Amino acid sequence: MENNLELLIKLQKLDSLILNKQSIIDEMPLKISEAELPVKEGQADLEKIKQQKDSLGKKKRDKERELDDFNEKIKKLKARTTEIKTNKEYQAQLKEIESAEKELYGLEDKILLIMEEMDASSQDIKLEEGRIKSEKNKLETFKEKLETEISEAEKELVSLKEAREKIVEGINRETYNLYMGLIESSGGIAVTEVKGEVCQGCNMNIPPQLYVEIKSNEEIIQCPQCHRILYYKSTS
Ligand SMILES: [Zn+2]
Repeated sequence: MENNLELLIKLQKLDSLILNKQSIIDEMPLKISEAELPVKEGQADLEKIKQQKDSLGKKKRDKERELDDFNEKIKKLKARTTEIKTNKEYQAQLKEIESAEKELYGLEDKILLIMEEMDASSQDIKLEEGRIKSEKNKLETFKEKLETEISEAEKELVSLKEAREKIVEGINRETYNLYMGLIESSGGIAVTEVKGEVCQGCNMNIPPQLYVEIKSNEEIIQCPQCHRILYYKSTS
């Protein structure tokens, strides 16, 4: 039959494994939300580019309406030519047509520039969509890998917890309560080795008399400083 200390050493090993498996499971939501970031950022960028393209489209329609107005104006001016009586009137009208046509050409240039910008936006949209698609693929692969890890950790947890139950049955209540209190207060490490007269939990030097007692590995002895339960692992 194993003594309480031997059982506690085994229990600590199991609990450290359980803690580790549990943290793999607990960290999953954070890992997934971190992995989703590039996709979300890509989608936000895409939205911005689409909005820019929309406002370019609106600008283009405005300029086209202005262009229609100038075309209409020129058409009217030219239609009035038959009503002109004097050369002076004719010269004035010619000037008016010329300046309207100048405005018209300017507008046509502006519309062309807007169309070029719209083409560039379309290219950017295609690029961004491609980037999002590849980020989504990466995300899916990552999620699948994570899900495999989680289901493995869950399976292992079940058998670890079963093994834990069996060990706990052999430990007396009082010692188990001490152990669990230390697990809570000492960051999950309640039982620790003493190596070269030093507590591996807090690095304190163990007094020689206490060290001799620890070396026998029979009683539950706690570190004077961190209160963890100490044991000695013989090298032979
Ligand atoms: Zn200590």
